Amino acid sequence: MADYDPDNIFAKILKGEIPNKTVYENEHVLAFEDINPQAPVHVLVIPKGPYTDMRDFSKRASEEAQMAFSRSIGDIVEILELEKTGFRAIANTGINGLQEVPHYHLHILGGQPLGRMIHIS
Ligand code: 5GP
Repeated sequence: MADYDPDNIFAKILKGEIPNKTVYENEHVLAFEDINPQAPVHVLVIPKGPYTDMRDFSKRASEEAQMAFSRSIGDIVEILELEKTGFRAIANTGINGLQEVPHYHLHILGGQPLGRMIHIS
């Protein structure tokens, strides 16, 4: 919690200070369209609690919150109609992961073949 920036963009989205195109929401989770999509389908799934990244979430979030997050993925994939064609889920983390927004988020990408898993340039 000490490193969490309460003024990050996704915290502002959660507070309703910045609009978003919501795909799914429950007590613990919000999923919304990425503002700069990298594929025909590009949705970000975030926990509503203050967690900086996947490690922080996995260490500190309650079992209820973690279960809700995990369970939401299946529902979101169905809402996005990706269950047959497949998708990629990415959690960029820290410096080497090139994480830009310091609130844990899972990218869900799909709608076309996504190429190889990583490209280092
Ligand atoms: P990261 O690089 O941290 O894994 O990804 C951050 C993502 O947040 C980027 O894909 C970027 O397009 C998205 N993003 C940044 N600001 C906003 C915003 O204000 N609204 C939405 N919907 N997405 C944003």
